[in-house]
Amino acid sequence: MKKPKKALNIQKGVESVSPINQKAKLNAKRFQKKQKPAQYYIEGILESNRTILSQAITLVESVHPKHQAKAREIIQGCLPHSGNSIRIGITGVPGVGKSTFIETFGLYLCKDLNKKVAVLAVDPSSEKTGGSILGDKTRMEELSVEKNAFIRPSPSASSLGGVSRKTRETIILCEAAGFNTILIETVGVGQSETAVHSMVDFFLLLMLAGAGDELQGIKRGIMEMADAIALTKADGDNALACKKAKNNYQYALHMLPAKESDWIPPVLLTSSLEKFGISEVVDTIESFKNKTSITGYFDHHRKTQNQYWFHESMKSRIGDLLYSFTRVKEQIQQLDEAIIQSKINPFDASDQVFETFIKEITKQQK
Ligand code: GDP
Repeated sequence: MKKPKKALNIQKGVESVSPINQKAKLNAKRFQKKQKPAQYYIEGILESNRTILSQAITLVESVHPKHQAKAREIIQGCLPHSGNSIRIGITGVPGVGKSTFIETFGLYLCKDLNKKVAVLAVDPSSEKTGGSILGDKTRMEELSVEKNAFIRPSPSASSLGGVSRKTRETIILCEAAGFNTILIETVGVGQSETAVHSMVDFFLLLMLAGAGDELQGIKRGIMEMADAIALTKADGDNALACKKAKNNYQYALHMLPAKESDWIPPVLLTSSLEKFGISEVVDTIESFKNKTSITGYFDHHRKTQNQYWFHESMKSRIGDLLYSFTRVKEQIQQLDEAIIQSKINPFDASDQVFETFIKEITKQQK
């Protein structure tokens, strides 16, 4: 019997790759291998080309020594064009409403204030587990298609190591690409806040009201870093609880030591869903920038941050160099084991590693 004709005929699987496809594959490989010069990325970034900006960030995130060297060149080229922005750190426990806030806040900045906003994420979980809290969800749907916004999820599992240094370098590239508002999101669980604090001008802590424990496991240290607390979801049934909590938090903030900036952090009520309190957050940040610019703190803070990053960058490069010697790497693995077995103390172990390191470097220079 003749089979009836169907629109969806099941095709036989392709048995061999056609020569044309093979050629395309080869070309793609060659393209990947062909390194573009740093100048190509620098020019692309300065022209605000997002694709090139993304590619350059991938180089920054790469652990490959060749990519790292290229990334350094790109950063050098972008540095003179960076710095012209406000860098805002946004933190809070999972569920506090960070993504929703950033979506509403970011859209307000782009659409109402005509700002160019880059959103970066520092996710300590990705460094430890290879998974990413911040990358998994479908987040910031409207902001991700907004022409004045650029969202870069946290580095993937294949590009781990020094997530915070990479974020810092990514800020430089985004600023050179013309983004004048940089939002850096982190999960408020205490690991990455210090790193984020060391790269932002303003640190915004998002908190919930009426969630039982008023401080929600937010460590005192994080409260001390905050330049403002925004109580999220201050709408509907939660509105009254938020008003009460506002006073409690304001009191808690007054109890903390005065800030070097002389800035008194306010507590703000916000609702990302009902879109209120958002312009107040913007005004607060503006006011912070104006006041601290007048006192000189704003510039001073960035300079001390640069000093901090100078030291961090040296440490991280020396660390990379240390591990780049196979003999040293193997010795570290053996000594790690020896320490567990109590065969050696950590100080003697590090002396031994250092000795091998010096020998290897001297050998290399001969
Ligand atoms: P994150 O884990 O901190 O990024 O939190 P999300 O932004 O994913 O928000 C967690 C939950 O809170 C989601 O179900 C949101 O819809 C809800 N949410 C966020 N902002 C608001 C708000 O302003 N009002 C209310 N009522 N719910 C909100």
